[in-house]
Amino acid sequence: MGDFMRRFLVAGNWKMNTVEATATALAKEVAAGCEQATSLVDVLVCPPFPYLAAVKSALGTSKVALGAQNVCHEPAGAFTGETAVEMVVDCGCTSVILGHSERRHLFDESDAVIQKKIAAVRGKGLQAVFCVGEQLSERDSGQTELVLDRQMQGGLEGIDEAAMADVVIAYEPVWAIGTGKTATPEQAQAAHAHLRKWLESRYNSALAQSTRILYGGSVKADNALTLLRQEDIDGALVGGASLKSKDFLAIVQAAVEAAN
Ligand code: PEP
Repeated sequence: MGDFMRRFLVAGNWKMNTVEATATALAKEVAAGCEQATSLVDVLVCPPFPYLAAVKSALGTSKVALGAQNVCHEPAGAFTGETAVEMVVDCGCTSVILGHSERRHLFDESDAVIQKKIAAVRGKGLQAVFCVGEQLSERDSGQTELVLDRQMQGGLEGIDEAAMADVVIAYEPVWAIGTGKTATPEQAQAAHAHLRKWLESRYNSALAQSTRILYGGSVKADNALTLLRQEDIDGALVGGASLKSKDFLAIVQAAVEAAN
């Protein structure tokens, strides 16, 4: 890690799950269980849009941060069904997940649209958790690095060094999301090292060393520590296991252990 200490970030992507009662209960449990951990590692929860404000108030004075799972790149106006960055800020968000594979593949989000969203989110000073990852067929045909390079290049086009100050990359192999198949620590480390090298050649070494790269894809309590101990893995983006406080808190605990 050299001179650059990257603080672990454990982020929960609740996806399209919970109703208000379960969202606020989960948030309270996470906040209560993270009191010690948040002095050492960053923790983020990303509930569905309708519950952002309720979850913010459930988190109370906790250091657990609130994030949205998506956002519109346009400022407020005539965009039926969309949510502007200023609205998620108003709800207490400090972070937004962008380019999640479900957005890319189920809702046809292109690299170009994701780029606009990253620019909009960073323009308002929020953290962008920018997801990249290859599909199984792409991995099997040896195209993993090519796909990652294309997604990085497209998503970060025109995003300058200053804007990168709070961009977190999340490497999420599509074949590992929600499937129970986790990338091996070696596969994940290789992809993370490649992404860091990409950042170095596109920006510079200091930026590459200070940018956090999270792993996502069936992270659970029992595989988190080995993944987080890899040199270039700086945290986890957790889907399924973020919906039960006990499971999520165990992953946070693994990050605390890996940080020590
Ligand atoms: C995700 O949605 O970002 C994710 C990694 O999901 P899961 O942990 O369920 O694989």
